[in-house]
Amino acid sequence: MDGKALAARVRARVADDVAQLGELGLATVLVGEDPASAVYIRSKHNAAREAGIAPHDHHLSAGTTEDELLALVAELNADDAVDGILVQLPLPDHVDEARVLRAVDPVKDVDGFHPFNAGQLYVGEPTFVPGTPLGILALLKEYEVELKGRRAVVIGRSTIVGKPAAMLLLAEHATVTICHSRTRDLPAHTREADVLVAAVGRPATVTADMVKPGAAVIDVGINRTPAGLVGDVDPGAAEVAGLLTPVPGGVGPMTIAMLLENTVRAARFRRGLAPFPRR
Ligand code: NAD
Repeated sequence: MDGKALAARVRARVADDVAQLGELGLATVLVGEDPASAVYIRSKHNAAREAGIAPHDHHLSAGTTEDELLALVAELNADDAVDGILVQLPLPDHVDEARVLRAVDPVKDVDGFHPFNAGQLYVGEPTFVPGTPLGILALLKEYEVELKGRRAVVIGRSTIVGKPAAMLLLAEHATVTICHSRTRDLPAHTREADVLVAAVGRPATVTADMVKPGAAVIDVGINRTPAGLVGDVDPGAAEVAGLLTPVPGGVGPMTIAMLLENTVRAARFRRGLAPFPRR
């Protein structure tokens, strides 16, 4: 499954939407010098710019206090030029991540990490859904993978990927199993999966013998190894799977494309072109 190609099409569509909506702003908040986070932020800025969305870059030192961070978020919430706010994770250990994410105005929460937006997904009225699970679903739809009544197994239960991916698959009427670090006999579950999503962060979590022949396999993992960037799925699984997302070039580019789509969505909410549910 070619995430790069689909992401390019989504981004072109976003650029058209932005051209119609006028000025859009995406504020990013990066705390500290984590090299991987810096790469992600740079990619997001470039993608935003290319789509005509102005990035508002806020790079704070690693020693920034929680109060300083909350003050910045409050400022961005009030800033009319800012449609979307993205706080790059992970935050330093001395900052309460949940408290900061909760401080973002839900109507600007383009990452979909605020409990209000997470709850909207849970009750089946999604507002902002995190980019990675949205990207996973978009890929499955693009490749016309049947989901209704099929068995989907998601490995990983994070609020960023695993849980929202499971919710989206459930909304598509798949029969969903969530596996995690305490799951007993993981291969017994994965072998049943028509759709298998691996979001663990460990190379070769899924090997060929764990894949049902013909299954659609989504590899979310991004692991930096001496041999380069690899996913959670062993390349040998390609022999058994019907469809597989590559790493890189699969879910990664889709995540960014969906973030831009969420920024357009935020702009529509804020301009009164779509109703944002009352809090
Ligand atoms: P996380 O660490 O928050 O969650 C990992 C999950 O894997 C946990 O729920 C844990 O229970 C489960 N797990 C750990 N060991 C396991 C095992 N042996 N068997 C079964 N489950 C196990 O990570 P995350 O934020 O959800 O990210 C997961 C991976 O996806 C990481 O590699 C991350 O870099 C990558 N990621 C990629 C994108 C993208 O755009 N492609 C976006 C977000 C995250």
